Amino acid sequence: MSAAAVRAGAVVVGGVHVFADTRIDRHAAAIAAVIDPAFLAEAGWDPTRKVLSFDPEHPLLGRPVCRAAGCSTSAQAASRICFSCCRRLAERGLGEDEIASLPPRARQRTGRGPDTCVVDGCRREWESASSGLCRAHADQLRALPVTDVEEFLAHRQTRPLPPCAPCAVAACTRQRRHPDGLYCGAHQQRLRNALACDPHLDETRWRAVEPAIGRGGEVSLRGLAPLVVAELLVGLQQRCRINAVKTDDAVLRALCNDVRHRQVSSLTHYDPGDDRDLEFTGLANCLIGHARRALSSPETEVAQDEWDLTVFGHHGTVSFTGISQTWLRESAKRWAADDLPKRRVRPGRRTSAGLTVRHHIGCLVRLSESLCMRDDRGEHPAALGRADMEAFLHRLAYLESVGQISGDARIRACREVRAVLARIRAMGLTRPGGLAAGLGEDFVIGQADVPAEPEPAEPNRDLPPEIMRQLCTHLDELTSPVMRTGIELAIDTGRRPEEICELDYDCLTRDDDGQPVLIYDNHKANRPARRLPIGEQTAAVILAQQQRVRARYPHTPVGELKLLPTDRRNPGGRRAVTGFSLAFAHRIWVDRMPVLHTADGVEYDKAKIVLYAYRHSYAQRHADAGVPVEVLRELLSHRKLETTSGYYRVRDAVRPARQPHLAASPSAVGFRARPPRSRRGRRPVRRVRRTIQRQGRRRCLPVPVPLRRLRPLRHRRLLPARSACLPRRPAAHQRTPARGHRPR
Ligand SMILES: [Zn+2]
Ligand SMILES: [Zn+2]
Ligand SMILES: [Zn+2]
Repeated sequence: MSAAAVRAGAVVVGGVHVFADTRIDRHAAAIAAVIDPAFLAEAGWDPTRKVLSFDPEHPLLGRPVCRAAGCSTSAQAASRICFSCCRRLAERGLGEDEIASLPPRARQRTGRGPDTCVVDGCRREWESASSGLCRAHADQLRALPVTDVEEFLAHRQTRPLPPCAPCAVAACTRQRRHPDGLYCGAHQQRLRNALACDPHLDETRWRAVEPAIGRGGEVSLRGLAPLVVAELLVGLQQRCRINAVKTDDAVLRALCNDVRHRQVSSLTHYDPGDDRDLEFTGLANCLIGHARRALSSPETEVAQDEWDLTVFGHHGTVSFTGISQTWLRESAKRWAADDLPKRRVRPGRRTSAGLTVRHHIGCLVRLSESLCMRDDRGEHPAALGRADMEAFLHRLAYLESVGQISGDARIRACREVRAVLARIRAMGLTRPGGLAAGLGEDFVIGQADVPAEPEPAEPNRDLPPEIMRQLCTHLDELTSPVMRTGIELAIDTGRRPEEICELDYDCLTRDDDGQPVLIYDNHKANRPARRLPIGEQTAAVILAQQQRVRARYPHTPVGELKLLPTDRRNPGGRRAVTGFSLAFAHRIWVDRMPVLHTADGVEYDKAKIVLYAYRHSYAQRHADAGVPVEVLRELLSHRKLETTSGYYRVRDAVRPARQPHLAASPSAVGFRARPPRSRRGRRPVRRVRRTIQRQGRRRCLPVPVPLRRLRPLRHRRLLPARSACLPRRPAAHQRTPARGHRPR
């Protein structure tokens, strides 16, 4: 059932498995149709009682249960002993470690709160746990000449009784205390307290909004609109199936109580507010998001003014409401709908696609604001021309001058508006009858209109060698083996943080000559399974981590394991740590170190020590070792030499090794720390090149063919790689190496 069909008023059959009373509106029924009966069984949903009863053993919905014999109360404390059993222990003078010798409870209890009366066949709830009798039978016991409950149960006048009506509080799952009363015992007491506080209490409203009496593992959805019930259930289902995160029954209960208290008609109208804790807000936003998406698809989403990008496989939302001109707003939507499918998605990972689209739309909002200054508010595309575009460009210049946007943002705004307008034209939207029909030919941003970009600064993000040395002496202070491995690999291999995090368990292999090679995915440039020659020391770090991972996840197939599994929501070891958590652990580690000093004795700014700086340091120490720029480009997995040149400076003082050797670092800072004459364990450039080249199409060739451009250069200085002419004239340096590559 699509959302459009629901809005169109289609007749709906369904929801029988969710609701005992199927007289519900079409929207609720459509959502109910999305709910899997298997999930409802898993979550212990009772359609008649409208109560969820989670199995304590459920991996995501379960709860810790008291260790005492015959007790099934929730026990959140580290000792796993509930409050009441703690008291029973204390009464008997026993310690927590003697829980096994605690006698079982007199009566088996399914949880806190009343169970049914112990009289055979009686369907009323007991009044007190000690006697186990309902109120009527307790009164009868006192009237009869019997001494104890056993005798009473066997008495001929003892008859089972029909259940009392349910408590008048909408949420309550209990029976009325007395057939003539309105409430259960607990609610009777609560009402008395509420009336004492506020004598003018509106009792009808109180009945509607008062929470149920909490019971471990149970969540009452009574007293909520059928639509809200369906939304909560579908949200919980998707949370378990898609997010695979734990849900605490107490937090879910609190959320349901708040939703009931505000009497919202749909979960999508609910706002958790700012004064709630993270767990509550996280759960609420998760369920609201899933409820909203329950009926949406890319086809329905593009008709809205706010898009949930999750529907398109990306992250976040994008809003078009800031664009006031109809033609521009609709054209922007068409552009976004055209652009999103071209962007890469990564299962289970955030992508930057949403950010990019949001940024483009943000620039169009600025254009829209500028067009609003016209008398016709820019509503007619045919009336727009060069003067309007100039006004927009002036506006951007003004915004930069008053500091509202940065110079970089101004350049990006020009480029992005230029790109969107060009795409709109290419899609034919400016043709007669199109969304932007007749848009002026001169309503464009030319290449010359984009302000010139400043020259990039000289690369200097690498860390000085003495700082690297000091960092390495503190490696032992990293207590988490996963984080330590991640940081050591970042220092050793110069891979990007997200490439380190995403390493597979079997990321280590050997070349034909037995030398270790790291296999990683360059996600940024979409180049999977790259090969990087590494040193034996680095290989040993990986091997040790592999052993730890295997010991921790002995049952997961090796091919599905990650080298750096996260601690959170990761029962099978298939999820890796995020770049964020690795960076967080790294930041804490660096901040805890004593003050770091440069060679001049000056305090070094710790803010510069970020994970990405190790990539720059890697490039710089290879450049200093005389590695040719083309080889370095391959080592860094760049497509363009210009990119590589942004990673190192040419240093006159450093004398490169006669024959460059790579990736034989005995330690993380080995390249710099080791005296240059030691050659032990180094790898000739030719072998390194072969290792790198054995990927992509070349893998199917019988013998690796060396790239012509990758010949080691014999000149003493490295070329500042800005000169794009270098790869185009590969023969030049072979004949006259010194002249062809003199730095400018
Ligand atoms: Zn207990
Ligand atoms: Zn009874
Ligand atoms: Zn009640």
